[in-house]
Amino acid sequence: MPVESPATTSLPAEPKARRALVSDAANLLLRSAAPEKSHVIWGTFWLTIAALLEAFGPLAGKYLIDNYLLPRNAQVPQIVALIAGALVAGMAASWIRYLQLSRLAGLAMRSVRRIRESVYGHVLRLPMSFFDRAITGQLVSRVTNDTEAVKTLYVQVLFVMLDSVIVLLGAMAAMLWLDWRLMLIVATLGPVVVLIVLLYQRISAPAVTRTRELRSELNAQMAESIAGMPVLQAANAAGRFDQRFGALNQSHYQSRQQELKANAWLLRPVLDFMNVLLVCVVVYVFGSRTEGVALTALEVGVLYAFINYIGRVVEPLIQITMQFAQLTQAMVGAARVNVLLKEAEAPVADDLGQVTDGGIQIDQLDFEYLAGRPVLHDINLHIAPGSFYGIVGHTGSGKSTLLSLLLRFYPARPGSIRIDGTAVDSIGEDHFRDRVGLVPQEPFLLAATARENITMGRTLTDEQVEKAARAAHAHDFIVSLEGGYNTPLGEGGARLSVGQKQLLAIARALAGEPRILFLDEATSHIDSETEQVVQRALSALRGKVTIVAIAHRLSTVRDADRIIVLNHGRIAESGTHSDLMTIANGLYQRLYLLQQLETEEELPIEPSTRPG
Ligand code: ATP
Ligand code: MG
Repeated sequence: MPVESPATTSLPAEPKARRALVSDAANLLLRSAAPEKSHVIWGTFWLTIAALLEAFGPLAGKYLIDNYLLPRNAQVPQIVALIAGALVAGMAASWIRYLQLSRLAGLAMRSVRRIRESVYGHVLRLPMSFFDRAITGQLVSRVTNDTEAVKTLYVQVLFVMLDSVIVLLGAMAAMLWLDWRLMLIVATLGPVVVLIVLLYQRISAPAVTRTRELRSELNAQMAESIAGMPVLQAANAAGRFDQRFGALNQSHYQSRQQELKANAWLLRPVLDFMNVLLVCVVVYVFGSRTEGVALTALEVGVLYAFINYIGRVVEPLIQITMQFAQLTQAMVGAARVNVLLKEAEAPVADDLGQVTDGGIQIDQLDFEYLAGRPVLHDINLHIAPGSFYGIVGHTGSGKSTLLSLLLRFYPARPGSIRIDGTAVDSIGEDHFRDRVGLVPQEPFLLAATARENITMGRTLTDEQVEKAARAAHAHDFIVSLEGGYNTPLGEGGARLSVGQKQLLAIARALAGEPRILFLDEATSHIDSETEQVVQRALSALRGKVTIVAIAHRLSTVRDADRIIVLNHGRIAESGTHSDLMTIANGLYQRLYLLQQLETEEELPIEPSTRPG
């Protein structure tokens, strides 16, 4: 399943998966950097110039030694020119490198911004079926962490590598030009470095991967604890959680240490040792080759330049090796982002139809979330504009599913759902969402003010907001908050009771002045008295707005024009309350009598709230 692609940060072992991953990562990089092609080309060009200028330093040194110092040839103007030239070249190289690296860093930031925007925008347009199998934490980590990993890929890995490779090639070219045989000796370093890289990977990569996993576990535990704080404290579990967090934290520390040790003990010392060894070999070869030759005839400057260049070869190699572990992680991150971006978006409606009166026709509708597990069978319903329909039925009978299809969260196939004669999926998105309101089963509030939770970004006047809040019976409790409509409600509306959240969700739906209003258990957590007020508000809409309300509490839909009883995904009964009550031993009748009995037991002294 695409969303559950590699949870770890290491490259997959089998070559095919590895190739797919690399191509996914490369794909994303190329696409995100495409608008910046000229920056990439110019950056590379100037870095090459800088490397060449830098390579000039030791060469100047060589000429100084061989042509002027050893032969005691005191030609002051030439000497001054050489020294000044080397200095200027060095400074120019530093300056160019600084400019280019900041150019490339800017490019990386912009590319990552672009990737992050497109990932978030993409997620917003994914079909609802995607979210049935998506894991929130993973998805969030795609948008934040994995895009950040892509930045690492650009800024640290690619640019450090690009720069190092160019410097390395510059030094090698200079050595080749000076003395190709000595250069070949230096080139033996290549295979040795490959070995060291492999060894380093083997030691450090698992530690790097483990550190990452532990970090995300730490995050996950923190998030879970905050979300479940009431349960956690009620169960007196703070101590246990503290311990678990401590253990995780300790493991994180240890694997990080292991990672650093691999850097500190393996990489630098070994490569530095190679550096020294190489210098010794070069000096030895140089010495044995020139035995017995007069010092002045020797090009001692070549030796000087070589020792200098060897340092310049080793340093980039260390840099490149150190980037390898990060490269792996970043590639995995980039590949995961790319896989997410490849998920198909929900089809865009073609804007043909309009919701005018709010009539709904459902014909021969079947539906299954998972193949072979049908949830709805042969649903036929014709809802006249402005009427009030109730849907009742046992838990799991398919009520919310029917609403999801009416809201076109899933494609309604086979069968058809039409609104005012047009298939739902050919009504333009903005128009559809404007005209069709929903009060969901679980009220969802943003961490924003009461007003913002009602407007949801729509341009509504204060009067409209207040009118909707009054109709939903939410106005009174909102104004009693310390900041009234401008009170921040906390994450998920944590400051409100569940019933208050429902009222606010109803206000939100009413504020849009929809033609069709769907309510899924909208009054399940509201006391009977408030429910009656809300019901009166809904009654006031009768004739103007088509209302489809799901309810477990049958009193909510008692007055409906028609009540649909769903049973195992089929319409078992349908009719008005009194129609259904006449069906002997009918489902509705049984449910109703049962509820009446319960209410009487619970509230013996409040006859006004008793249905019937
Ligand atoms: P309740 O009264 O408890 O809200 P409901 O009538 O609204 O129940 P639905 O939510 O429509 O029931 O679920 C109907 C069936 O579809 C259930 O068996 C449920 O397990 C299944 N189902 C619901 N949502 C999904 C989903 N996203 N993926 C797979 N199956 C689902
Ligand atoms: Mg439901």
